[in-house]
Amino acid sequence: MRFATKAIHVGQEPDPRTGAVTPPLYLTSTYSRKTQDEYAYARSSNPTRDALQKSLAGLEAAKYALSFSSGMGAITTSLTLLRKGDHVVVTDDCYGGVYRIFTRIMSNYGIESSFVDLRDLVDAEDAFRPETRMLWTESPTNPLMKVVDLRELAVIAKAHDAISVCDNTFASPALQNPLALGIDLVVHSTTKYLGGHADLLGGALVMNRDDLHEKLKFSQNALGAIPSAFDCWLTLRGIKTLAVRMETHCDNAEALAKFLKGHKAVAKVHYPGLPDDPGHAIAKKQMRRFGGMLSFEARDPSRIVERLKRLEVIVPAESLGGVESLIEHPASMTHASVPKEQREKQGITDGLVRFSIGLEDVHDLTEDLEQALG
Ligand SMILES: *Cc1c(COP(=O)(O)O)cnc(C)c1O
Repeated sequence: MRFATKAIHVGQEPDPRTGAVTPPLYLTSTYSRKTQDEYAYARSSNPTRDALQKSLAGLEAAKYALSFSSGMGAITTSLTLLRKGDHVVVTDDCYGGVYRIFTRIMSNYGIESSFVDLRDLVDAEDAFRPETRMLWTESPTNPLMKVVDLRELAVIAKAHDAISVCDNTFASPALQNPLALGIDLVVHSTTKYLGGHADLLGGALVMNRDDLHEKLKFSQNALGAIPSAFDCWLTLRGIKTLAVRMETHCDNAEALAKFLKGHKAVAKVHYPGLPDDPGHAIAKKQMRRFGGMLSFEARDPSRIVERLKRLEVIVPAESLGGVESLIEHPASMTHASVPKEQREKQGITDGLVRFSIGLEDVHDLTEDLEQALG
């Protein structure tokens, strides 16, 4: 079965009892044991969640998927694979919540982390220590759209007996399947493209390895960061249109990347779909298309926040991956908690703008940017 068909049918077969075409929403905390023992308590399992997990596994062509109440719920649960004394190599341009959990929480439990620009495979390998048990990657990264070579990084992690993890939120399973490139564990914030409508929070862990599934399924129930049945149902509803949504996200992003690149108020555009982008060649190898996210640097950082407020169609807001275009200023919004010095070192300048391109008519988006950027 091809991707678009799987997105509609896997895990979403008609209900065998009633024939309902849409998976039923099971709002129950517990189950009668008179006639069955498969379901006991809803933290452990719920049929609507089972349907979502099956669907997510299908999208990544994986054996297993586990669902969570948020991307961070999935990420926190994945870190139960580590023990006191372990070390983790993490991409330096990682999601802010991932930086926070490694530096402010895991460090309290005796787990150390090093933040490295994983585009340089020599630096990546040099960061490994005898006690390194995990490699944490994202591609493309947030907000600089850096692309890392997932296939090569998976080989390095394996050679050091470390679990390779890829946060695949920005690409979505429609554009990139890290497990097929050798990665052990895929993370998603289903809040973004999978849900797709900015109306829910959710997360997922997807994997082929039986040992990882066994441990993480135990942790999913033990930690309890599970999604509500209703959020599972909404996510399934979103997934059905993932394939068509991603095509338009990519069409619009490609057009807007070109438009912004030629705009006098813009100094630089970060988008792996641009042929001269440093990530283009690797993105072409490991992604089907280049995604719906880009970032750009304004020539005049002092006026950019004010200019973004002039936008009429594009909404100035955090988050990404929904039908509506969202734009944000990392230095004052998503990355405000990162000290200025550290931000600048990473390349998150005061003029940087992150843009989640939605499904509006691309002409309305260009016109809106034109009138706001001046
Ligand atoms: C949003 C996001 C997360 C966290 O997900 P939540 O659903 O907000 O908890 C993790 N990684 C990436 C890349 C994200 O964009």
